[in-house]
Amino acid sequence: MKAIILKGGRERSVMQRHPWIFASAVAEVQGDPEVGGTMEVLSHEGEWLAYAAYSPKSQIQARVWTWNRDEIVNESFLAHRLDTAIKARANLKKTGRTSAFREVHAESDGLPGLIVDRYNDIRVIQFLSAGVERWRQVILDQLTKRGDCAGIYERSDADVRGLEGLPALTGPLWGEAPEPLIDITENNLRYLVDVRNGHKTGFYLDQKENRRAFAEMMQPGASVLDGFSYTGSFSAVALRNGAGRVIAIDSSATALDLIPKNVSLNSLALESLNVMKEDVFVALRLLRDQGREFDHIILDPPKFAPTSAHLQKASRGYKDINLLALKLLKPGGLLFTFSCSGGISPELFQKIVSDAALDAGKRVVVIRWLGQPSDHPVALNFPEGRYLKGLVCQVVDNF
Ligand code: SAH
Repeated sequence: MKAIILKGGRERSVMQRHPWIFASAVAEVQGDPEVGGTMEVLSHEGEWLAYAAYSPKSQIQARVWTWNRDEIVNESFLAHRLDTAIKARANLKKTGRTSAFREVHAESDGLPGLIVDRYNDIRVIQFLSAGVERWRQVILDQLTKRGDCAGIYERSDADVRGLEGLPALTGPLWGEAPEPLIDITENNLRYLVDVRNGHKTGFYLDQKENRRAFAEMMQPGASVLDGFSYTGSFSAVALRNGAGRVIAIDSSATALDLIPKNVSLNSLALESLNVMKEDVFVALRLLRDQGREFDHIILDPPKFAPTSAHLQKASRGYKDINLLALKLLKPGGLLFTFSCSGGISPELFQKIVSDAALDAGKRVVVIRWLGQPSDHPVALNFPEGRYLKGLVCQVVDNF
């Protein structure tokens, strides 16, 4: 059997059910396993630990499929994992509040590197590790056999594919091709989603519960700044909940193009919306110089720190925008601030925002902590699955 032998003393994390085996922990690879193929994971003493998928190009050299020696990684194994993940989202379907959600969240659903997002009857899939790439046809067959979707579209063009030594792949894989813009429903709003060209699989599904939190906390008549707006999901929530004025800022023209469309689709007040194509770092300074003030500001930037190597620069970036935003808020104003950087812990993020408040000279309280929705679960044996964190801060006064 093909096997990976760990260095002495490096079996602890595998035994604690962590699915990642780093190259630095590997003493030897035996039997010349193929890329993405299944192999045994053995301790230095030869004790059997797990079955894992081999990814020779990646720093994460193997990802564990199972710690159960009796389990065989095959079609029925994958079918079972997929079925379990999809069934776990049944409650989301049942409420009927959203027609778009994540069905498979990779490691946290026991399927390392596999993302399946659902937009109405279309599945958008990402094979992001050598292991799931190796099983792509089996996974596709299982998903089509279920008879519960009309088409499957691939968006395996995330940067992490490169780390696995895999080329970017996109396009229809099965069934109906998605419409150019899919009209989804989330809570009481509709959004147009471009699954072919949009970010990630098309929409920031991970913010759905935070959009709801924002809806609940929106003050009618409020002036709102939606920073890093993408296609304006938070802007639409603001307008639906009675915002007086909304400014959406993003550097992507194609993302901004969809905002007025989304606003009109929901029969919301287009005249209350301003769209600004600008770097948020620049825009916040412009608004400051103009003496503008807001009741609510959302800051939902891209991943400034994909890994801990980018920590310092990322921290400066987060501090800068949060400091500027806090200064732009009226007394009593609310800042909804997020970080989706895996490299930034919730504690560190709060510390950065606290440093920003100090430098802004504002007395600020956290009134709510935000995170990931239930369809982006975090397996307890895989804390890295927790990447999205948010704070709702209220400016009480000046210091
Ligand atoms: N809040 C959005 C998601 C934001 S994703 C939603 O709920 O849909 C981050 C967005 O930041 C992307 O749309 C990207 O185009 C934009 N972006 C990245 N860097 C930026 C910058 N420096 N200035 C303005 N926008 C930026």
